[in-house]
Amino acid sequence: MKIAIAGAGLGGLTAALCLHEKGCEVEVFEAAASLQPLGVGINVAPHGSGILHSLGLGDALDEIGIRTRAIEYRTRFGHLIQSDPRSVEAGFDYPQYSIHRGELQFLLLETVRKRVGRNAVVAGKAVTGIVQDDNTVRITFGDGTTSESDLLIGADGFRSNVRKYLHPHEGPAHYEGTMMWRGANLQAPFADGRTMFIAGDHDVKFVCYPISGRATREGRALINWVAEVRRDQRCAADEADWTREGDRDFVAAFSSFRMPDIDILELVNRTQRINAYPMIDRDPLPWWTRGRVTLLGDAAHPMYPIGANGASQAMVDARVLADRLAEQPGPDGLLAYEAIRRPVTANVVLNNRQSGPERVLDIAAARVKGPDDRIEDLISAAELEVVAAGYREIAGFQRKAV
Ligand SMILES: Cc1cc2nc3c(=O)[nH]c(=O)nc-3n(C[C@H](O)[C@H](O)[C@H](O)COP(=O)(O)OP(=O)(O)OC[C@H]3O[C@@H](n4cnc5c(N)ncnc54)[C@H](O)[C@@H]3O)c2cc1C
Repeated sequence: MKIAIAGAGLGGLTAALCLHEKGCEVEVFEAAASLQPLGVGINVAPHGSGILHSLGLGDALDEIGIRTRAIEYRTRFGHLIQSDPRSVEAGFDYPQYSIHRGELQFLLLETVRKRVGRNAVVAGKAVTGIVQDDNTVRITFGDGTTSESDLLIGADGFRSNVRKYLHPHEGPAHYEGTMMWRGANLQAPFADGRTMFIAGDHDVKFVCYPISGRATREGRALINWVAEVRRDQRCAADEADWTREGDRDFVAAFSSFRMPDIDILELVNRTQRINAYPMIDRDPLPWWTRGRVTLLGDAAHPMYPIGANGASQAMVDARVLADRLAEQPGPDGLLAYEAIRRPVTANVVLNNRQSGPERVLDIAAARVKGPDDRIEDLISAAELEVVAAGYREIAGFQRKAV
């Protein structure tokens, strides 16, 4: 089977590796004129990292990323509300990694080139036209060239052209008013060097975690941060661009934040390059597959970046797609893949709109009014664990008892 994949992001490249492992011929077409290691930090939760480990990439992940010990949810005063463990020691089969998105993309890219072929990923090929019949799918690219395959997987991200081909009348992206500013700074580590924290509430939130194994081995930390502020202002969500430079006028919203182990205002002020991106997603689709064409990753189920799930769900898609196509080569395999993955990911998209595991922040914000309040007097650990366990169930990553 010859399979074309639109998009050399984390989902498309993982799909190429999983499909190649099953004996498929794969070719990845990427719109960007040249691949650059873009982005800042991203998390790959245990269900996603298990797939990368099964592809033999565990050592490389340990080299470039950080094995996250736990996600700490904190109040703006720095109280620890809940520590949500994510490590092997805590009972997961695979670690969660906090990692630089571009470095992870290049690890996958180099692995595809080694295993599938030096020319398996072709840059400068934006999929712009799709025509299919009973035997083949014919793809037209922005440069006017064409290619034929048995199947086409649309892994072309949030602004997917393959999704537009399947659902030409879909409405605009869903945006509720939260903007995200992101950056990373090389500096002294905080906490144990493996902790991620999310502090604040639904309206003003700060996310912070180290992402570089190399920096850690040198006694430093490349600290990724995301500042989220809900402003209820309009934005051109359908034109959102991960490389857009952001201003610094969000900083005032965090002036009252105090963390016990890191000065977040200093972290932001020292960061040289800040990008701004809206918190956007799309309503779940009623179907993903028509004939020889389907969707994967953000093209299929763009979601709020909550619960470390965007990249992880794309990786699970890749594994399920390859497994189903190995059993049922052709359009029936695509339908079997969709039948498994569409309901699960729709549930994650909708749950993330309700803050997913970050709901504990709002529980605390409603009860904790000042730095002298004691969390244990106001919220029980059992109440918080219901939120964390519920999200693990929805997203599909389980912990063994230890
Ligand atoms: C440049 C960039 C930077 C990002 N930075 C971050 C970050 O810092 N933190 C974070 O949490 N998430 C980031 N993301 C999003 C994150 O990578 C995804 O949410 C997640 O990994 C799911 O991956 P995906 O492969 O489905 O989509 P993506 O990672 O978005 O990959 C889609 C790929 O398809 C390509 N493409 C788009 N249109 C076409 C077309 N018509 N034909 C062919 N190829 C096409 C894109 O150039 C891209 O390489 C970034 C995405 C991009 C594209």
